[in-house]
Amino acid sequence: MSPRVAVVTGSNKGIGLAIVKALCQKFEGDVYLTARDSGRGEEAVKSLASEGLKPMFHQLDINDLSSITAAAAYFKDKYGGVDVLVNNAGIAFKTADTAPFATQAEVTLKTNFFATRDMLTHFMPIIKAGGRVVNVSSFVGSRTLNNCSPALQERFRSEDLSEEELVGLMERFVEEAKKGEHKQKGWPDTAYGVSKTGLTTLSMILARRLSKERPGDQILLNACCPGWVRTDMAGPKAPKSPEEGAETPVYLSLLPAGTTQPHGRFVSEKQVQPW
Ligand code: NAP
Repeated sequence: MSPRVAVVTGSNKGIGLAIVKALCQKFEGDVYLTARDSGRGEEAVKSLASEGLKPMFHQLDINDLSSITAAAAYFKDKYGGVDVLVNNAGIAFKTADTAPFATQAEVTLKTNFFATRDMLTHFMPIIKAGGRVVNVSSFVGSRTLNNCSPALQERFRSEDLSEEELVGLMERFVEEAKKGEHKQKGWPDTAYGVSKTGLTTLSMILARRLSKERPGDQILLNACCPGWVRTDMAGPKAPKSPEEGAETPVYLSLLPAGTTQPHGRFVSEKQVQPW
């Protein structure tokens, strides 16, 4: 049997690095720190090695489809698939950033929603039986959902929402942002928030599909919030350390064999949250 393997995207720093660190200590198998920039990735591997930990490294830029497919092929070939996948890579414009909202919408949705979806499209078929998939979303996505028009809220919460319809909604947000019409069309004024509403909703859709199409494989897929964490993204005033932020993603990554819940949920502080 192939050895077990865990893969964390965007893990050269911040919460992703802390997730890799915890998995090195708790996961029985190989743990891959991945980064879009190999130099930054190798540096991070060295920093963990100096603490006596032994992560492996693979380059992975989620905005680059050829990087995603090369990584998926590598894990399929070397390990027969992936046991734990944590989609952690994400971006956020700073509040003070003066880039036009249309640009912020396009760039933020590109990484946080569309590229993460590309990861899922190419990695879901190689998730092994008993696997765990964790999408690092945000409580901001839940708040954003509650600030959408009633019609949008109804679609995001609907159990019959398809992946195609969700992709269409995310594309529509970007288009309406470009025309300066997003607010009148029922969207809140936050590109990051909409990207995470989309990611949490996508997690629910894919979990329903797993239950339907691979019921015997007992794969659990969830979205989560790490909390407000001191990283380059959130700044130094956040209350949680990266290690504390890693706790819920790591908990979901290591749900023991035979566990049936949570699955297809949004989880924060290790608790299922309303959606
Ligand atoms: P961070 O310190 O800015 O780290 C983000 C990581 O994602 C970096 O390693 C970055 O790589 C990587 N990344 C960005 N684009 C990528 C791409 N195209 N391909 C591969 N990697 C990419 O942020 P963080 O606070 O640790 O955030 C991690 C996750 O938690 C994000 O999804 C974020 O939205 C979520 N989150 C954070 C907070 C918080 O309070 N910090 C709260 C809720 C949710 P580079 O170093 O190359 O840029």
